[in-house]
Amino acid sequence: MSALVEVADLSVHFEVRQWGFLRLGAVQAVDRVALTLAEGESVAIVGESGCGKSTLARTLLGLHRPTQGEVRFAGRELSGLRRGELRAYRASAGYVQQDPFGATAPFLDVRRILAEPLIIQGVGRDEREARIRAALEEVHLTPVEELLGKFPHMLSGGQQQRLVIARALILGPRLLVADEPVSMLDASVRVEILELLRRIQGRRRLTLAFITHDLSTVRHYAERIFVMYAGRLVESAPVDALLDAPRHPYTQALLGAIADPDAANARRQRELPAGEPPSLLDPPRGCRFHPRCPHAMAGLCDRDDPPDFDVGERHRSACWLHRE
Ligand code: SF4
Ligand code: MG
Repeated sequence: MSALVEVADLSVHFEVRQWGFLRLGAVQAVDRVALTLAEGESVAIVGESGCGKSTLARTLLGLHRPTQGEVRFAGRELSGLRRGELRAYRASAGYVQQDPFGATAPFLDVRRILAEPLIIQGVGRDEREARIRAALEEVHLTPVEELLGKFPHMLSGGQQQRLVIARALILGPRLLVADEPVSMLDASVRVEILELLRRIQGRRRLTLAFITHDLSTVRHYAERIFVMYAGRLVESAPVDALLDAPRHPYTQALLGAIADPDAANARRQRELPAGEPPSLLDPPRGCRFHPRCPHAMAGLCDRDDPPDFDVGERHRSACWLHRE
């Protein structure tokens, strides 16, 4: 499998100012992240809220500029693209936002919402109509004839998210970034939407980056998992290795915090260590997890940033415990 997305040494920091001029510092939303996504691969990017996963997702889409490092898509660096090239890139990368209710203009009907990206790309009327109908079929928003004239407020939450997915797919992207695609939906429709994404990913051989705070859902929806903590990528591995044999203390804590229905595994139920993820305005020195880590080593973890260690087949963990 060839690489579609290559992220190297990526930092995305946001300046924070008071009254527009007094510089308070920089929020280090994403800090020195490196990752590669293969063509056709589905991955999950997991972490607690505020860990930088949405910022990372939006940077992959070219919506934030890197403060440092780069994002390459099919070998081209995004920040080097001109306006017209960026428009072409938008056709290659679809985005499903967390909030389907705010993702579409309320005064446009379904046909018009799906037509918009096609118009921007210069697709003619007849082909537009055909592609709009095909997109609605693909996400099972049927009967198509009935749906075309509806406005977003006339749709259920699940239908609205199907519409957002249809819009994200209508230009035939190679990459789909789905940021917490079901977290704002009723529990009853979550599995349906996740299954839909999985089927579409498989059928289209899409590269899917699925952003979530919920580790319990990822086994069925991703081949590989990236775990983020406080703006850093702390562990990455194929899904089974990561869930069954996590190596980073943060991932272990995160997994331990998921209630395990199997009583024989009750031992594995641990609490997430006390404390909150740190402020990204002033993250801790050294390993950012050290204030909460049960294994923290004084004089090392609170001082030096752990590098990534290879701990298995395609398995990396940024923790000093793996040092020889
Ligand atoms: Fe814990 Fe140190 Fe590993 Fe960080 S580097 S996770 S503080 S043991
Ligand atoms: Mg988010």
